[in-house]
Amino acid sequence: MRYFPLFADLTDRSVLVVGGGDVAERKVRLLLTSGARVALVARTLTPWLTAQAADAAGRIVQLAAEYTDAHLAGVVLAIVATDDRELNARVAADARARNLLANVVDDAGLSGFIVPAIVDRSPVVIAVSTGGAAPVLARLVRERLESLIDESFGTLAGLLARWRERIRAALPDLASRRRFYESAIRGRVAARVRAGRAAEAERELESELAAASPRAGSVVLVGAGPGDPGLLTLNALRALQDADVILHDRLVADEVLALARRDATRIAVGKEAGGHSMAQVRIHELMIEQARSGRRVVRLKGGDPFIFGRGGEELEALRAAGIAYEVVPGITAALACASYAGIPLTHREHAQSLRLVTAHCGESVDTLDWQALAQGRQTLAFYMGVGRLATIRDRLIERGRAAATPVAIIENGSRPDQRVTLATLDDLPDLAVRGGIRSPALLIVGEVAALAGEMAWFGAPPRVWTRMRRAA
Ligand code: SAH
Repeated sequence: MRYFPLFADLTDRSVLVVGGGDVAERKVRLLLTSGARVALVARTLTPWLTAQAADAAGRIVQLAAEYTDAHLAGVVLAIVATDDRELNARVAADARARNLLANVVDDAGLSGFIVPAIVDRSPVVIAVSTGGAAPVLARLVRERLESLIDESFGTLAGLLARWRERIRAALPDLASRRRFYESAIRGRVAARVRAGRAAEAERELESELAAASPRAGSVVLVGAGPGDPGLLTLNALRALQDADVILHDRLVADEVLALARRDATRIAVGKEAGGHSMAQVRIHELMIEQARSGRRVVRLKGGDPFIFGRGGEELEALRAAGIAYEVVPGITAALACASYAGIPLTHREHAQSLRLVTAHCGESVDTLDWQALAQGRQTLAFYMGVGRLATIRDRLIERGRAAATPVAIIENGSRPDQRVTLATLDDLPDLAVRGGIRSPALLIVGEVAALAGEMAWFGAPPRVWTRMRRAA
């Protein structure tokens, strides 16, 4: 390939045209269509060129009658179209000396670039060149192409260009986008454009796009935190505001739900501690159903979805069903309750590690490693332990944890009705019977629990159980 093909952006760039006859006029017309400015050097001009050059607001300036090398200053290209072979050669040589590209019409030998034969179906433009070997052949090729690619191509390309962003947004995946374009170009959209019915073509495109969009639903597993809506992450908020459907646990605070998109459907699926409201499999089915029908589903869980929240099981179900998902972590009850009660979960003097433990059902209590849990210098955070306070006390003391180990029970942590009760491990059975503890409540066992006595900052001051019992 002798010539490098390219399409140049000449908008507001100056091109020197030497010559003022019919050939020069054709070149000038083409240059003007593509937004160029024309600096004209010619002894005589065609009537059209004369008129254009006389128009002060026009894009053509007649520089001079006689060419000089200085006319090449400040132009990006030059086109020479005179009968004067010597002049043509001179301009070509001057341009070369300045490292500029010049075209001498019908003289490829003198030219730094050649102008192709074109089929203009803007924005589709087809350029044909025989490398100067046989311009007549180039014209023949052009004629063939012209009959093959009719005017409607330009209109169709324009229509697709206007819709390009919307098509990209609706079909983010390249393969389906390509399929869509192909069917538009070969099918009814193009047929309507060819029939001169542009508005109908556009409506057709719109409805084909709507039909092609996968509207793939997805599920975001979102941690709603312990109750205070201020503890939501920005990602959680975003997911709530994008949601079509929200499947939420009962534990999720109303203040959090209030931040969701107003017309999102809210479905309570979770369980109150104890009473089941919807079987876990049914929750899986519901999530999958909703996502399959193209909805953006938020599965909203108290605290963090991956801490005693069955988030793992839900993801497995989604994965098996081929549903796309994301997970947004939340502030888990242990962290929130500790902060809001003024209990540092680790402390250089008291606790080097923290265990999150569930004491939910009988078997799980028996399978816990009580020996390890009873060791000192660690903090235990028991979830769902309200019904097992006596068992927890017995097992820990049996394995050697001191009866006087401080404990804290935080009910409704981070919520306006938060209540903190401070006691010792030994007091737990009594507290369970007479303390009126209500779910949701978190039990913290360890020396750090006592710090709440001084460091509490939120809600009502903690009640101190031992003292209350003595007073009674
Ligand atoms: N995924 C949740 C835990 C679900 S298990 C999380 O990460 O927090 C439910 C248990 O969490 C409750 O029985 C209780 O022990 C604890 N819990 C949740 N929210 C609580 C709150 N606001 N105050 C105290 N305990 C809470």
